[in-house]
Amino acid sequence: MKITKVESRIHRSSFTYGAGASGVGGNLHLRGMDTLLVRIETEDGLHGWGEGFGFNLVDTTQDALDRLLAPACIGQDATGIAGLCRMLARRFHNFGRNGAVTFGISGIDIALWDLAGKRAGKPLHAMLGKAARRRVPAYASLLRYGVPDDVARNTTAAVQLGYRHIKLHEVNLDCIRAARAAAPMEIPLMLDINCAWDTAEQAVEFCRAVAGMNVRWVEEPVWPPEDFAAIAAVRAAGGVGIAAGECLGEPASLGAMMAAGAVDVVQPSVTKIGISGVLAVQALAARYGVAVVPHCPYFGPGLLASLHLLAAAPVEEPLEVYFADLAAPPYPALIPRRGYVAVPQGPGLGMALDEVALV
Ligand SMILES: [Mg+2]
Repeated sequence: MKITKVESRIHRSSFTYGAGASGVGGNLHLRGMDTLLVRIETEDGLHGWGEGFGFNLVDTTQDALDRLLAPACIGQDATGIAGLCRMLARRFHNFGRNGAVTFGISGIDIALWDLAGKRAGKPLHAMLGKAARRRVPAYASLLRYGVPDDVARNTTAAVQLGYRHIKLHEVNLDCIRAARAAAPMEIPLMLDINCAWDTAEQAVEFCRAVAGMNVRWVEEPVWPPEDFAAIAAVRAAGGVGIAAGECLGEPASLGAMMAAGAVDVVQPSVTKIGISGVLAVQALAARYGVAVVPHCPYFGPGLLASLHLLAAAPVEEPLEVYFADLAAPPYPALIPRRGYVAVPQGPGLGMALDEVALV
């Protein structure tokens, strides 16, 4: 089945995330919630949607997609997803093995999986595994506030909405204690540090300070994210679970991280390594006994793809849901309820995009 069209569109939305007037925040780099959409059409007129990473870089990824990747896909077989993505990765490897080009390939990969599901008349999760969950638990992923009162207020709001897992993007212990005080102790916290600490020693000190707070994991504890030995040292001495993987560009890198004993939880990012890449990471993780919880600060096809991957996975794990309200979400019908997200049962990704908002 030949590919006849590969197009890109950007979905832009403003957003709020419950920051107070005094908040310095930590999210000023986010000008909006921008989503790069990839639309692939085949000769039979079917089309699929994908998403390439992301946020403020969408124009750059779009350029890589339109300039390099899209022309190379025309006339190729849409059903040979692995082969096509491998060809693109090899052909354009010298433009970067972890960046705009691979983000674009990931968007193509997701769109091809959506197409494959539509062609088979099956929801995507049925193509990816057998678990067939009708709903997946979600965790509220709070953006960075940097102000204890804001953290407490939004943690309380997430608990009231029914979330039973909450992630913070705070590094300040007062902010983390404020969240811990606001959420019942049985609700685990996850702490995303975004590589803030320069040394393993600093990260270990942080981990020990939060170890008694029912923390499921500390995420990306040290800079740089490829220093697996340092992450493993933090894991060995810190007394809490460690998660990482969102910044790695290919399954082999995530495999090397797991082989180094660096993580309890691996976090492949579907708009950076595609559905095919996440499947490969799941297989590696099973070998190393590591849990798989995809990185998913997404609102478009990347969110749906992660949802289907979790619906199909052998072990139930929560879906990351960014705790932000978009003025124009790509999928207005996709709303977490009481801490769960229903898995669409239509073919492919299973949900229609709000195409009105596309530019
Ligand atoms: Mg993270």
